[in-house]
Amino acid sequence: VKIPILMYHQISDDVHPQFRNYTATVKAFREQMKILKTLGYETITFDQLLDCREGKAKLPQKPIIITFDDAIEDAINNSVPILENVGFKAVYYVTTGYVGTKSDWMIPEVNLVFQIASWPKIKSLDSSGFEVGSHSVTHPHLSDVPADECLREMTGARQTLEDVLGHEVRHMAYPHGAFNKSVRDLAYESGYYTATTCEPTFAKLSDDPLSLPRFNIGMEDTLLDFISKLYIAKSPTVILKYYDGALKKKIPAPVRKFIRKYILKRKGG
Ligand SMILES: [Zn+2]
Repeated sequence: VKIPILMYHQISDDVHPQFRNYTATVKAFREQMKILKTLGYETITFDQLLDCREGKAKLPQKPIIITFDDAIEDAINNSVPILENVGFKAVYYVTTGYVGTKSDWMIPEVNLVFQIASWPKIKSLDSSGFEVGSHSVTHPHLSDVPADECLREMTGARQTLEDVLGHEVRHMAYPHGAFNKSVRDLAYESGYYTATTCEPTFAKLSDDPLSLPRFNIGMEDTLLDFISKLYIAKSPTVILKYYDGALKKKIPAPVRKFIRKYILKRKGG
């Protein structure tokens, strides 16, 4: 079974040009969740993924994992009601050193900061059935820092989250998707069971759980791009090529209708 793992950062109608690739508008996010529901996807958490790996549970027919990096307050406030409305779960990865403050680590790269959720907000996510994971303490490129610092970043974030939430925290996302063999081994040593990267492909139960791939979703993704990532992990030009073939049968009518509209619009210029 191919498991798409989606990576979101910001959900907001306030789209900053330098953060376009990591933002989805509220409307786009709502449409994407509706499409997933229409297509029969069922969200699972990383705890459930591990249970399935260990044979303690069975994967749903069409499993998907929805993740959010950085715990941006707007992303949480805007996504939670939409997810709850369709009965979906998601995973929020928290950079513990910035909880309740601004995302200052973004300044060098995008010259932009967002308000990061507070601890009460993160606790309420956890108690409402969403999964909370770690995203290090200070959001460094873990592959560029010495091993002892890397270990501190990962164990520190895990311990802080466990103290606040009062239960084990087993999952993390590598900041910037930056990892290598030694970072991966240090994640294991730091007590993590799963960790996610930014490699855009499907996850499988047989994958190394400490380097699970994810698809980034941003403003560049039209609904067609979104759908094509779910089906073939490829660009829409590929899905258009196969649209009349075998793939067509797999696509539910509401989505086919949308694709037809999209194709006509494109062809009509
Ligand atoms: Zn991040």
